Amino acid sequence: MNILSVAFEVAPLAKSGGLADVVASLAIEWKKQGHTPIILIPKFYFIDADKLGFKPTGLTLVVPMGYWNEYATLLKGKLPNTDVDVYLLEHNGYYGRDGIYGAPSEFGDNDRRFIFLARAAFEAAKALKFKPDVIHSHDYHTAFTMPLLKIYHRKDPFFAKTAGVFTIHNLAYQGRFAPQPTMEYTGFGMEQFYPGSWFEYYGGTNYMKTGIMFADKVTTVSPTYSREIRSPYFGEGLHDVLNARGGDLVGILNGIDYAEWNPKTDKKLPINYDANTLDKKKKLKSKFLAEHGITGKDHLPLIGIISRLTEQKGIDLIINVLEDYLWNDRFVFALIGSGEAHYQNYFNYIKHKYPNSSIVYIGYNEALSHYLYGASDFLLIPSRFEPCGLTQMYAMKYGTLPLVRATGGLSDTVREFIPSEKQGNGFVFWNYNAGDFQFALNRSATIYYSSDMDIARNNAMAEDFSSNKCAEKYIECFKWALEKV
Ligand code: ADP
Repeated sequence: MNILSVAFEVAPLAKSGGLADVVASLAIEWKKQGHTPIILIPKFYFIDADKLGFKPTGLTLVVPMGYWNEYATLLKGKLPNTDVDVYLLEHNGYYGRDGIYGAPSEFGDNDRRFIFLARAAFEAAKALKFKPDVIHSHDYHTAFTMPLLKIYHRKDPFFAKTAGVFTIHNLAYQGRFAPQPTMEYTGFGMEQFYPGSWFEYYGGTNYMKTGIMFADKVTTVSPTYSREIRSPYFGEGLHDVLNARGGDLVGILNGIDYAEWNPKTDKKLPINYDANTLDKKKKLKSKFLAEHGITGKDHLPLIGIISRLTEQKGIDLIINVLEDYLWNDRFVFALIGSGEAHYQNYFNYIKHKYPNSSIVYIGYNEALSHYLYGASDFLLIPSRFEPCGLTQMYAMKYGTLPLVRATGGLSDTVREFIPSEKQGNGFVFWNYNAGDFQFALNRSATIYYSSDMDIARNNAMAEDFSSNKCAEKYIECFKWALEKV
């Protein structure tokens, strides 16, 4: 099957979250399974294309935007250390600047940057003579590929047999912009924008809604999240839209790439280990603590957090209980994260107040994240909502027990460790309150000091969330989508 994957991120070239990992791991698996995926993302300024071996294709794309044309070039290369073709869409006006979306505030022309990629995707496929069976687009950034396919390109014999599948990685981000520019860049015109139309949402655009409505099939990243988002509580204002497409909405649990994430072979770990050599994991933890200036605390549990610092991730719950534990020397705490300024400030304060109990790295650091997955005993993920979550899966592979709130993909992957049964791979609480969270933390500490700890670690390490199963399910879904074309 020819799959054109259009996204704003792919790991390791451009990543701000789990979306990037999933786009990469799906394509890697599809390739192994004999399909032909290609990935199209923007050539962001920070991608060192030369160093990564990208070469100009010599193709110039003429991309219609509204009533005028714009131009872009295409670079071709491989996803590092794989055989997967990646094309970078080069347009310095849109993408030749720092960052992916713009931070701390988003770029003012993001609507235009998103539409440009969506429109260019069709021109790129034609220029490359790559006739896709499926256009697979990810999150609201590339959602407009769906109406473009259905309204314009369905008349083009090149795309006549192409299905459109749209994947929701996080419903909380929807792409709400002023309508005029979007309707102009897409060429659909304001006459298509009226109350209740598939482009309209409370007087503005909502790219997510538009993608959901026009796609042949809509997927999201875990079975539980696919059910949750059909209710007002989790639906982020789009539950009615999702219910309207309920028959075409599928939850497919994300997978992870064990070639990249394996403590036995991970080159980012100074000491490698597996389920039979857990003593080495303990050495890794000691080394990690020593390297970060923490002494005499190796016997305490090391609690890790690797996360965007946003409300979604349940950071408030952590703040509620953290000092209590640090003050009483109940655990050592290490965080790698970045996000909202008030959270960053709080964790910097913790670092200064408890220098011999806390390690705080504000920023994005892939290598350090691997080290912390390996070194930690527990990883905290008390999310308010979590479409799938990858960090709990990585943690488990590294013998680090996740402590999660039962929501979305966390519900689908983590089971409470029950000492009497020796079953379970982590710790789970249900209600979003600090009391229940704290109770789960206390349970994890009890297991840590018991002989069950290694059993629980072994249970976690034996889990298989490999992306090949996930990739197969997407292919099933693509075939199902093609039945509609
Ligand atoms: P989300 O996509 O909502 O951020 P996921 O759990 O699906 O959450 O994916 C998060 C991904 O980003 C994981 O691969 C995690 O290791 C990584 N990550 C998050 N924050 C950081 C950070 N500060 N440094 C390195 N990696 C990070």
